[in-house]
Amino acid sequence: MLEELIRAWDGEQVVVGFDAESRTWMFICIHSTKRGPAGGGTRMKTYSSPAAALEDAMRLSEAMTLKMAAGDIPFGGGKAVLAVPSPPESGERRRLLLRYADLAASLGANFQTGPDVNTTTHDMDVIAERHPYVFCRSEEQGGSGDPGPYTARGVFHGIRATVSHVFGSPDLDGRVVLVQGVGDVGARLAEQLAEAGAEVLVADIDAQRVDALADRVGAKVIPPEEVIGTECDVYAPCALGGTVNPDTIPRLRCRIVAGSANNVLAANEDATGLQEAGILYAPDFVINAGGVLYSWGTESLHWDREAVETRLAGIGETLTTIYQRSEADGITTEVAAERLARGRLD
Ligand code: NAD
Repeated sequence: MLEELIRAWDGEQVVVGFDAESRTWMFICIHSTKRGPAGGGTRMKTYSSPAAALEDAMRLSEAMTLKMAAGDIPFGGGKAVLAVPSPPESGERRRLLLRYADLAASLGANFQTGPDVNTTTHDMDVIAERHPYVFCRSEEQGGSGDPGPYTARGVFHGIRATVSHVFGSPDLDGRVVLVQGVGDVGARLAEQLAEAGAEVLVADIDAQRVDALADRVGAKVIPPEEVIGTECDVYAPCALGGTVNPDTIPRLRCRIVAGSANNVLAANEDATGLQEAGILYAPDFVINAGGVLYSWGTESLHWDREAVETRLAGIGETLTTIYQRSEADGITTEVAAERLARGRLD
């Protein structure tokens, strides 16, 4: 199964490791180095099988190629997945990260990584002990720290541009925005939306977290299982991927899907389903690029604060271009975004 997946993939390189002590499969997928060294996060997660983990790494890696190209950052796309049987803690976690770092280091500058689902800036500090090409180390260690706030700001710009395209004005006053997942990105996004006058609905499987956030920003809590059928102007998935699929599309009650989650669409064809349902989709790899723009931009390209802010605002401008091309060419916004990104690969 792993062999078939690797043979069928259109990426450049797959490195497979198995860490006996922790029973962890390690996959580093380099999708493209056409625009520069492959950049992409290191995800730690429990999967149903090693093949499922590899498939995830491959798809996320391709999305990084598109994200870097759409954001016009001189890097290619890669991704690493550590498929753990259960989340390792303290010493066990450190040993696993160091052995993973050795594997990543075998690729030299060709694979440059950062945090992703279930890995932190402190994990990056550990990986950086053995692999020099690591972004988002903690600020104490000289890194750029948590990219989440910048991802949130990019999504905020993206939502304004998308609202403007649909309703004729970027004004969020009175617009109903449902944020699914109020973690690192979603909580900050909810704060900015509330400040901008939006009516914010929030949902999270962590009841304590969502209640505290709702109190703080004046949002209304929606049970996690009711997210899909809840009426709103904007559905902002900020928890997990795959929430837009043939089962959920007919039940969506929104005009816009625009959030930070990677791989929002279960399959690329779901963009057609959204279009047919009259829902405007902000392609994930465009709208959620804020964290990468910040960390890769400041650490590798030496952008200052102003340059970062300009690029974050540029996410809204890129989305507007994508919406215009999608309408002019009669294609989905996903296809329009891919064309824009792939046009920069040659
Ligand atoms: P996080 O882990 O900090 O937060 C995720 C939140 O979603 C948690 O509060 C969790 O309890 C909640 N959640 C999980 N399952 C849920 C469900 N079924 N319903 C409702 N809530 C649920 O993650 P994050 O860093 O905020 O990232 C959120 C998403 O954005 C992820 O998909 C991530 O891959 C993507 N993303 C993040 C960044 C970044 O800079 N952090 C950048 C690009 C993309």
